[in-house]
Amino acid sequence: MDLQLATMLSTWEDIHLKEAPMKLLALTALATAAYAQINYPKIEILTERYTPNLYMLAGAPGDADQNHPDGAGGRIGLLVGPDGIFMVDSQYEQVTDRVLAAIRKISPQPIRYLANTHLHVDHTGGNGNIVKLGAILIAREELRSDMARAANMDPARLPAVTYGMGDPIKFRMNGEVVDLIPIRAAHTGGDTIVRFENADIVMIGDFYRNFGYPFIDTNNGGSLKGALEALDYLMKIAGPNTKLIPGHGTIIKREDIIPYRDMILDVRSKVEQLIKQGKSVQEAVAAKPTSAYDAKLPGALGPAGNGTSADRFVRMLYSELKK
Ligand SMILES: [Zn+2]
Repeated sequence: MDLQLATMLSTWEDIHLKEAPMKLLALTALATAAYAQINYPKIEILTERYTPNLYMLAGAPGDADQNHPDGAGGRIGLLVGPDGIFMVDSQYEQVTDRVLAAIRKISPQPIRYLANTHLHVDHTGGNGNIVKLGAILIAREELRSDMARAANMDPARLPAVTYGMGDPIKFRMNGEVVDLIPIRAAHTGGDTIVRFENADIVMIGDFYRNFGYPFIDTNNGGSLKGALEALDYLMKIAGPNTKLIPGHGTIIKREDIIPYRDMILDVRSKVEQLIKQGKSVQEAVAAKPTSAYDAKLPGALGPAGNGTSADRFVRMLYSELKK
């Protein structure tokens, strides 16, 4: 999840329609505001090992990345072995040195492929750096076109190989079968989940979140309906012991999806009632339709407007249901 980028992109869209000189000024201010909250030099990369050749890299928890106090940036996946490295997501551009140092402690092999779960900068910022080392970047066509809209985009950060909805794309490497499974508009319009068949591990991206409330980036094609469908799909493909690895936060299993999905449906129906009663969005937020969950959910009571706050989740539900 990267709320800051989403806000920048959506504001950019608004400004785009107005005057060009204003656009540049506003973009500079936005960029400064967005990145001021991330202390890149302070981000520490931790290594998690799941099987003899499947690893994850995740930012350490703390205040280095105020958007993600539970772990800076987005999680990276690494399938390693004699056929080379298959990498999933690339973290912020500014931490590639630490990502590569962590990778080199695991394997001396070249990074052959890089896949992206979705476009947010905490998952794709380092794309250009990894591509320059020779990796082939592969992602959804929707991700590529949304990413290409951003100002000053390094073309190396854009996928070279793209795919749409349809059958999973399979990679056979290092004794593993890796499936890139396209997901219909959920967290963003270009989501992919990555399944490692033999390891029985699925990287699910950001449409599931266990720190605060879900963030659906409707400015970049995401939809609540798609996120609910994606959760249903996960329930279908996951066995009771399948490890489901979100882009942020702790590892979950199939059984953890049910209460999460029920929470979304419950809050959605409460917001729906408030809309039927003619309440404004401010009144709907003030009615606290998430109150039954706030205390149980770490990160839920963060500052209003924060990416995972109850306030933002209710506003998102309200605007989606109003459509
Ligand atoms: Zn995201």
